[in-house]
Amino acid sequence: MRCSQAIINLSNLKKNFSNIRKKVYPAKVMAVVKADAYGHGMIKVVEALNQLDDKPEYYAVALLDEAIELRKNKVKQPILVFDSVANSDLQEYFKFNLIPTVFTNEDIKYLSEAKKKYAYNKKICVHIKVDTGMNRLGINYNEAFEFIKSISVNDDFIIDGIYTHFATSDVYNCSFAKLQLKRFNQLVQQLKDNNISTGLIHAANSGAIINMPDSYFDMVRPGISLYGYYPSQFTSESLKLYPVMSIVSKVASVKRIKKGDTVSYGRKFKAKQPTKIASVSFGYADGYPRGMTNKGSAIINNKIFKQVGVVTMDRIMFDVGNEKVKVRDDVILLGKSKKHEISGWDWCNILNTIPYEITCNISKRVPRIYFD
Ligand SMILES: *Cc1c(COP(=O)(O)O)cnc(C)c1O
Repeated sequence: MRCSQAIINLSNLKKNFSNIRKKVYPAKVMAVVKADAYGHGMIKVVEALNQLDDKPEYYAVALLDEAIELRKNKVKQPILVFDSVANSDLQEYFKFNLIPTVFTNEDIKYLSEAKKKYAYNKKICVHIKVDTGMNRLGINYNEAFEFIKSISVNDDFIIDGIYTHFATSDVYNCSFAKLQLKRFNQLVQQLKDNNISTGLIHAANSGAIINMPDSYFDMVRPGISLYGYYPSQFTSESLKLYPVMSIVSKVASVKRIKKGDTVSYGRKFKAKQPTKIASVSFGYADGYPRGMTNKGSAIINNKIFKQVGVVTMDRIMFDVGNEKVKVRDDVILLGKSKKHEISGWDWCNILNTIPYEITCNISKRVPRIYFD
């Protein structure tokens, strides 16, 4: 097997889940495993979570295909699909017993028609998405009451849940998220006052789980926090989390270069003195962004070394100076040794991004190695 690997620590995943569970109790937990569990491997992640006594009550994914994959792997919990049903094969929702997200009258019309067409003999279980300010998916909060009311009296449907999504729950002052929460609360109250049953009410993503305890309702939807990262560097650390993914490799070659010699395409690194260059089989095709050029680092033999020269498709180079670095020595690109740590946030600070993008972009050709 390839020596460049993503090591997935499933006991950290379980610890993160249990810490979230404790923090939000008695709210239920819908574990968000979209995008191959943020690059960690959806099936393995779900298998690990389902070993727990207090396993997630629900799972959520972005796409219908992801939900089908879960069902084909014998996942029993209810599965919510966040995507709009607009461009989907609706029969698949019935066939695999998946929960569609609905938020337009067309969604309702097409689902009803599909129910007839495919002779689906149960009520269609749906979650209704309410847009309280994200302006992405969902029915506007001002129109939501009438919409939900109409579905509640439609015999084809059961409302299993209603939900909204925060735009800013992970910023220092989440005042906009608080406004969204207020809008959502008003709707929830109006539905209660009118005895309209809504099933499970849910809103909190990781940022809100950490920053907004009054947004838990009946269920929360953690994603990034399961994988051990805070959604931003502005969230309080009121929840203990452990990164689940590390990236390791081995030194593939070591060569001496002279003062003035350059490394890699475009000659973007020039040696100021004689030094040694170690190359590692990991490049932008593996998810090491080219933006890391001359900025990344690696831990080799418990020491930190700087990445030098342009990041290439399959390979990166490190300036190891005069240290005793040999071919086959272990390399840590993301993770920690006894003395040092390279965290996802170190990558993010170079790349001006968030940990979500880092772990999602570790590509398929990097084998995931699981241990518990
Ligand atoms: C991705 C997603 C989540 C999880 O968000 P995190 O910030 O990763 O916790 C929750 N809800 C919806 C609708 C999402 O799309």
